[in-house]
Amino acid sequence: DRFPVTRIVDVAVDRNRVLADAKRIRIIPRVLEEADLLGSEELVTMAVQNLISNAVQYSPEATHVGVGVRVTDGIVEIAVTDKGVGIADEEQERVFERFYRVDPARSRVTGGTGLGLSIVKHVAASHGGEITLWSRPSQGSTFTLRLPASAAPAPEESA
Ligand code: ATP
Ligand code: MG
Repeated sequence: DRFPVTRIVDVAVDRNRVLADAKRIRIIPRVLEEADLLGSEELVTMAVQNLISNAVQYSPEATHVGVGVRVTDGIVEIAVTDKGVGIADEEQERVFERFYRVDPARSRVTGGTGLGLSIVKHVAASHGGEITLWSRPSQGSTFTLRLPASAAPAPEESA
């Protein structure tokens, strides 16, 4: 299936609205270029939704979460940036492992299972893309999901 990246971002942001509002966190989407993606719309939406929910969960109240989209050389980059707790260098590889959680005692309050990022990594790989991470403890994190853009423009909706 072919689907627009804007719809992915809109739906993923929307699904985090309640969580973000509860912490007075503003989610700021910035779509610089429009593009279409190929594959499972629901899985890609779920991946972006997971990145945003992490950004909200691992950030203090009243901060901002950015969701930037740009297209370079046929690659759609969806970057989710937070000003949260960050992840130490030595943990950065491991957070993509199933059930891995940094500091489980502290993150128990946020009540996750440690599966979110392993799902993101799986969705990225199964769509011919990748997920990368930049982070610095107590500064924040940026997770960048890169997926190949669909070459052909989307057909007009008609029968
Ligand atoms: P789940 O997503 O299954 O509810 P989870 O959020 O703990 O649980 P992941 O999304 O896989 O699991 O994340 C793994 C760990 O990586 C988290 O427990 C947290 O320690 C760390 N982490 C993930 N995203 C961020 C982020 N944006 N900022 C800081 N730490 C993060
Ligand atoms: Mg998570």
